[in-house]
Amino acid sequence: MAYGNLFHVAFFCSAMIVSLTSIVYTKLQKRTDLAQNHIFLFMNYVVLINSATCLCYEIFESYTRYFPQLKYLMFVSQFLYFLVHTALAPGLFYYVMTVNGAFCEKTVFLKKMCLAPFVLSVVLVVTNPITHFVYYFDKNLMFYRNWAELVLYIIALTYFVVAFCNLMLSWNALTRRRRWSLVYFFIITLIGVIIQLIIIDIKTELFGEALALVGVMLSVENEDDRLDSAIGVYNRNALMMDANHLLIKRKIFHVVCLKILNMDIMGRITKLSNTDEIVRVISDYLKTIVPRYRIYHAATDTMLLLLEDDNKKVTEIETMGIARRIHDRFEDSWKIRGVPIKLSSVILTAEVPKNVHTLGNLFYMVDSPMPKEMENRIISGDDLKFLIRRGAVESAVSEGLSHNNYEVYYQPTHCVDGLKLHGAEALIRLHDAVLGDLYPDEFIPIAEQTGYINDIDDFVLKEVCRFIQSGEAKRLGMDCVNVNLSVLQCMQKDFVKHILDIVNSFGIDKSWINFEITESVSASDYELLSNVVKELKENGFLFSMDDYGTGYSNMHSLFELDFDIVKIDKSILWDAEKSELGQIILENCVHMIKQMKRKILVEGVETKEHVEKLKALGVDYLQGYFFSRPITKRELLAYCEVRNDE
Ligand code: C2E
Ligand code: CA
Ligand code: CA
Repeated sequence: MAYGNLFHVAFFCSAMIVSLTSIVYTKLQKRTDLAQNHIFLFMNYVVLINSATCLCYEIFESYTRYFPQLKYLMFVSQFLYFLVHTALAPGLFYYVMTVNGAFCEKTVFLKKMCLAPFVLSVVLVVTNPITHFVYYFDKNLMFYRNWAELVLYIIALTYFVVAFCNLMLSWNALTRRRRWSLVYFFIITLIGVIIQLIIIDIKTELFGEALALVGVMLSVENEDDRLDSAIGVYNRNALMMDANHLLIKRKIFHVVCLKILNMDIMGRITKLSNTDEIVRVISDYLKTIVPRYRIYHAATDTMLLLLEDDNKKVTEIETMGIARRIHDRFEDSWKIRGVPIKLSSVILTAEVPKNVHTLGNLFYMVDSPMPKEMENRIISGDDLKFLIRRGAVESAVSEGLSHNNYEVYYQPTHCVDGLKLHGAEALIRLHDAVLGDLYPDEFIPIAEQTGYINDIDDFVLKEVCRFIQSGEAKRLGMDCVNVNLSVLQCMQKDFVKHILDIVNSFGIDKSWINFEITESVSASDYELLSNVVKELKENGFLFSMDDYGTGYSNMHSLFELDFDIVKIDKSILWDAEKSELGQIILENCVHMIKQMKRKILVEGVETKEHVEKLKALGVDYLQGYFFSRPITKRELLAYCEVRNDE
């Protein structure tokens, strides 16, 4: 074989080896589900076949001198080369468009029309043996290009340029890794083509393409970081990427979000250290309903199906159909390691962006704990609004701290004797620019779930300390200021030290602060809570039991924890007005607490009759709208001054 041919052979062999490697690895990784995977493999096959045809051509050409009949095989090789190579540029074009999600159900026709230039190339090549428009061989078997080869180049270049422009337009929707590996793909392909154009004997075109495809395999096609390897479906990271991509591309898609409510209990029953096995069994079932690449393991107890199709719009009816099938399946038990188990679930379905407008909201859907009353239901459409509100409140809660949106309000408390001022309860308010004024009943539970409660309670405590330190509270004739503590916070490590550090830094007398807690903890945590209360009391703080009579309070702890004041919940007072039984309950609560020698405060005092009734019962303190709603510090000062003057 001539030296020139050998040189070419080296390039073609290398291209063959590289593209074959890409194919083998892709097959081994079983990444063959998505349209993009198919196109990727297709491009590799094109490069592989092309390298093979070129290799054959070189071999046949070298030996035609000895075996003239080989020239026919040479023609066939060259013909096949041209035929297959015309598919590469369209392949690249469709690959980039698919990765970028450029097509949708409205552009199915356009998608097909994009094949027209390719069809023209094929016609030119197929008819070439008769027309010789693309190329021909002379009598000495010399190869000549003809005008139509230029047409083939222009067509390929057009695909190339359009794909590149699309890449640029989709820049923001792609992850950094995808963007740059696609750019690299374009550059290396282009360099290969240019080198070969300039120096025809350096056959870098196919080799460059094969190498560029390896780069794509490693970065775009590789899904290691997108897969939940234990379960074989996509992970949360993949959901984030894919949903973000679709949102940026303004695509409409549907989601079915499946939450398992009793996952932790089930984990314990089946003695599995983690819940992967349960998720795996459910995923296996989901794979029978939708393709694997539509399933995401979005959070420990949450699976999400992302329903989207380039070719036709997924309808609400189809989505509901899927949700219903899953719902019905949950009526039966599941076999987890041979043990039949009944799982309870909630299914949320939504159209994005109609019901769920942003990625943040989608993840609220994934992460929100579900109220027990939603168990075994399918929730969709307008019913999802609570999630969006929750999402907005959560942002307000977190931003509120850095934007100074929290404000401590005070609601005065009064002694029954002469109704003189006793103190005030600090109650937090959140002023949000978008949502307006928010009340703690709504945002405190969210703050507790998200952990912001610690910072909020610290903020309140510091504000109250500042108020006491300023001497104003004393001047106004107050005895103490009540501060609500979240029981969750009390359970934290070094809580007592934390509180002491804050209060000591203001150098105030600790008996000015009266902590209120609602005892809502389980028996196992009770000891911890009682130690915290004891320690804080030893340091001089006062304690009130809040919301007495709401079902959480227990007689034993009432006595054990040595509260200074018991706050009877407003519902007890209001019920006493409504029925005789209510009246009996109120009277007996008061008697019992009095016998235990605790002071009593009643909340929710709204009318003169309430005041009279409670006076007659002999409670100690009153709090409620009859005196004042919770008000700002400045309003409190004005309120107290007016009363002191009376
Ligand atoms: P709570 O500690 O039981 O506070 C009393 C609630 O009853 C306050 O609601 C108050 O505005 C309301 N209230 C008082 N008197 C009357 C009345 O006469 N009529 C009526 N209808 N309502 C009355 P608010 O301020 O919305 O607070 C709700 C709950 O949020 C509080 O219940 C408390 O559990 C929690 N909370 C408030 N501020 C804080 C805080 O700084 N930290 C923590 N951890 N929780 C807080
Ligand atoms: Ca309270
Ligand atoms: Ca209360």
